[in-house]
Amino acid sequence: MTTSKPPILELTSLNARYGDFQALFDVQMAIGVHGAHEVVAIIGANGAGKTTLLQSVAGLLQNRHEQIKYKGQAIGALRADQVAKLGIALVPEGRQLFPSLSVEENLKIGATIGRKRNGPWSLDSVYRLFPVLKERRQQASTQLSGGQQQMVAIGRALMANPELILFDEISLGLAPVIINSIYQALPDIVGSETTAVIVEQDVNRAMSVSSRIYCLQEGKVKLQGNSDVLTREQITEAYFGTGVDTGTNAVANNSGNAV
Ligand code: ATP
Repeated sequence: MTTSKPPILELTSLNARYGDFQALFDVQMAIGVHGAHEVVAIIGANGAGKTTLLQSVAGLLQNRHEQIKYKGQAIGALRADQVAKLGIALVPEGRQLFPSLSVEENLKIGATIGRKRNGPWSLDSVYRLFPVLKERRQQASTQLSGGQQQMVAIGRALMANPELILFDEISLGLAPVIINSIYQALPDIVGSETTAVIVEQDVNRAMSVSSRIYCLQEGKVKLQGNSDVLTREQITEAYFGTGVDTGTNAVANNSGNAV
């Protein structure tokens, strides 16, 4: 029976601040309910608080201890290195690779940051997932294309064999063909042993890869539900809020394109 297990990630009245500015208000989420792994997408307009939320979970922003629980353990006040050792990995917006290090060195750092959990991920399996990284393994990460750098950032996170992986703007600024290849790898990345939280501006993509969606608006959860049940109208409403005339039923993505 799995019903007695706590969620993989549980946020309870999460409030996050930058000094006097409050970026998250009373956020409630339960991800991986009963310990069952899933892919959840977080959507919302620019400035809605998506990055703040992931950074809070990853320990880059400190919160009250009880506001964030990982498999039942309060982690809201832990530092990033302590959170990583529990099995949580962040693929940050902007990738944040070590520019002076080679691809392989960047990947190896991932294994040292997180806990040394047994799992499917090693240099070999990351290279099988993204063969181009093996070809480029001795090159400096800065010599790679944006898409290849994103693959390194994902591979670095996987090297810790995380049980919860947080992707911040996985496709931002990448060519559609690269985005497709990264998302094609997602089922292999997640498998049956990992929960993924994906911040994604492309709402169609978010709906197609996730089982559930949370929509943030101005730091608050405006909508949540199963990705295959929520309607475009509900998402448009939650994304833009009331009183905003979008002109169509479309939801705008980050590049201003209707989706
Ligand atoms: P985007 O898609 O633009 O990255 P987001 O949904 O990830 O947006 P956040 O980056 O979490 O949003 O920002 C939420 C709010 O917090 C915004 O109003 C932003 O201006 C503010 N904010 C973010 N980082 C800081 C910071 N370091 N100091 C002060 N305010 C910040």
